[in-house]
Amino acid sequence: MNLLIMGPPGAGKGTQAEVLVKELNIVHISTGDMFREAIKQGTEMGKKAKEYMDQGALVPDEVVIGMVKERLSQPDTKGGFLLDGFPRTVEQAGALDKTLASLDIKLDGVVNIVVPLDKLMARLTGRRVCKGCGASYHVIFNPPKAEGKCNTCGGELYQRTDDNEESVGTRLKAYQDKTQPLIDYYKGKGLLMDINGDQEIKKVLDEIVKALKK
Ligand code: ADP
Ligand code: AMP
Repeated sequence: MNLLIMGPPGAGKGTQAEVLVKELNIVHISTGDMFREAIKQGTEMGKKAKEYMDQGALVPDEVVIGMVKERLSQPDTKGGFLLDGFPRTVEQAGALDKTLASLDIKLDGVVNIVVPLDKLMARLTGRRVCKGCGASYHVIFNPPKAEGKCNTCGGELYQRTDDNEESVGTRLKAYQDKTQPLIDYYKGKGLLMDINGDQEIKKVLDEIVKALKK
């Protein structure tokens, strides 16, 4: 299965993706994770991306598009993938269509996680992420079993530098201005599955699994 997972920052894309890719045995391609890895490795692309990410701004289209094109042409995507955090602009969506066509890949569906925007600030400022495997936790809504430690790999949890009020404000605005129009784009293609993300994590997963079976 070749899928996209969409929704505003903090909707729960990463949380759901972590389980879905295991259940469906497909690869998880998160552009945010790829940029954070590039920053960790100190690459030129990482340095460039960091300037934008720290402010909560989108990384320029040409940088993201190039990175995703290269990733999608790797052989492990042949068994299916879940793209998370891409596309985020109309231009990126157009580039994705072209890339998929050139690789003879068909998109099977777009999971759109819907959460009222006024709930997202609390989700993002309380988010904690595992340094080891990238799993997402929340200090109140989804705390780890042992404080500061990942349930799955035992890695240390940290707070993303862009999960502060100012940056979240900018990211939510970028979502509304640039990404929200893609909902209609994929609805028009008959691929969109709206999922209520404002319920327990397990219930969100059940709803996604049900929608994918249809
Ligand atoms: P995204 O990848 O869409 O930015 P995450 O999956 O990292 O979002 O989730 C953002 C924050 O919200 C995390 O702290 C996560 O634990 C929490 N979260 C995810 N899903 C839910 C949910 N259904 N209810 C409450 N909190 C959630
Ligand atoms: P995320 O992990 O999806 O919350 O992304 C973190 C940050 O990475 C975003 O705020 C952007 O700065 C950058 N980013 C990730 N994906 C994209 C994308 N598709 N287009 C532009 N910027 C992106």
